[in-house]
Amino acid sequence: MPDYAEKGLWHATYGQYEPSPALAGSIKADVAIVGGGFTGMATAYYLLKAEPSMKVVVLESEVVGYGASGRNGSFAMTVVGLGLELLARLKGRDRAIAAHRYLERAVDTVGELVDGEELDCDYIRPGFLRMATTPAYEKKIRREIELAHSLGIEGIEWLEKDEARQRVNSEHYLGAWWEPRMALVNPLKLVREMKRVVTGLGATVHEGTPVGSIERPGTYRLRTPGGTLDAERLVLATNAYSDLLPQVRRKQVPAWTYVIATEPLTDEQLEPVGWQGFEGVEDARNLIHYYRRTPDNRLLMGGGPVGFGFGRDMDRDSNPAAWAHLEAHVADLFPSLAGARIEHRWGGPFSVTTDLTPALGYIGDPRAVYSVGCIGHGVAMTHLNGQTIRDLILERHTELTDHFFVNRRVLPWPPEPVRLGVSLALRSYLTLEDRFHER
Ligand SMILES: Cc1cc2nc3c(=O)[nH]c(=O)nc-3n(C[C@H](O)[C@H](O)[C@H](O)COP(=O)(O)OP(=O)(O)OC[C@H]3O[C@@H](n4cnc5c(N)ncnc54)[C@H](O)[C@@H]3O)c2cc1C
Repeated sequence: MPDYAEKGLWHATYGQYEPSPALAGSIKADVAIVGGGFTGMATAYYLLKAEPSMKVVVLESEVVGYGASGRNGSFAMTVVGLGLELLARLKGRDRAIAAHRYLERAVDTVGELVDGEELDCDYIRPGFLRMATTPAYEKKIRREIELAHSLGIEGIEWLEKDEARQRVNSEHYLGAWWEPRMALVNPLKLVREMKRVVTGLGATVHEGTPVGSIERPGTYRLRTPGGTLDAERLVLATNAYSDLLPQVRRKQVPAWTYVIATEPLTDEQLEPVGWQGFEGVEDARNLIHYYRRTPDNRLLMGGGPVGFGFGRDMDRDSNPAAWAHLEAHVADLFPSLAGARIEHRWGGPFSVTTDLTPALGYIGDPRAVYSVGCIGHGVAMTHLNGQTIRDLILERHTELTDHFFVNRRVLPWPPEPVRLGVSLALRSYLTLEDRFHER
């Protein structure tokens, strides 16, 4: 089995993992799910809860949790896209409320799954701080909190500088957005615990099984190196790797975010920072920094520079410049951690639609469903998406399938090389706006 330790802290510290065997020969299923991340596992789970006799097969090209689900910052939170203000501007106030309500429910769904299925994944619910690090960001955050309140959204409050610093202390902090509805997990443990549960419910999971092509001679025929799966229905849970079908390929592009984790910190290093409550922290940039204290007292920080590939190139997991940026940012925020050794550096792809909003729905046929575009905020969302995909696959008309994320028209990304040009232009714009807020 390949060594996935270079894919980050969660993989490196997971311990022994025995993947399920690859697909060999020809098999049949009611539902084929491509992708063994949160979306794939949550979909299998909710389908089998609804229809216990259904034959559900999940095909994963590497190991469960290989993609973003096993590499992320671990924040289960209510954010959609680049936040409420942009969403309200792009989609209108009603849709901003609908998006937020969906994400509130998604955060709660993760908690219910962890409790109900006794998932062993270091789940805590410490709440979320979005720190204002300049006066311009303070204004931006206060404006967004006012917007939230004017939309009838509760559970988000402004913390003054002293209160914010009492929780996590940096001389850069001028106050914070405080939102108790937010959880942290070990995401690799979470997705593999979900694998344990879905296989217990009767799902079959094949790892080391890349789907090379999908045909439709009547049923869906998925070809893999070791065999073929024929299925009545299909779920593409491939997120940033969604290039198997032309109907889905241009709905999203992969972009990369990078992460570092320190060695376990000493009490002396942590004492000036405080952080007794283990809150999840972000700043208010477009290209956010996100960071947390892990159960073994490391600082995990991700964000800053974002990467793009060209065409179908998915080999962008390494970015020394982004890691150096993060290391410098840790030292700048928390001088007592300046000398801390960085033990893990990694990156991973997330999925971006042209309007920075999630999209899921039928692939021109009520027997096939895709899901893309959670950006860097899919930990909670993908779990509720599992319920939405269940309803789509079972052709049930529900409150979830009525949501505006579902079956919406997504403006396609242009073909290369224009696509890369547009992505870089968008990144430059977001970076410029950040610089403006940091003058
Ligand atoms: C570094 C990083 C940090 C992040 N931090 C956060 C965070 O703190 N909070 C948050 O909410 N979100 C975060 N995200 C986003 C979040 O992780 C994702 O939105 C979420 O995990 C997506 O889950 P998924 O199951 O849809 O996709 P993935 O987990 O990417 O799963 C897709 C799977 O499909 C498999 N696959 C692809 N093609 C094929 C094929 N042809 N055949 C078989 N299998 C295939 C892949 O191997 C992969 O395992 C982060 C993302 C990254 C990369």
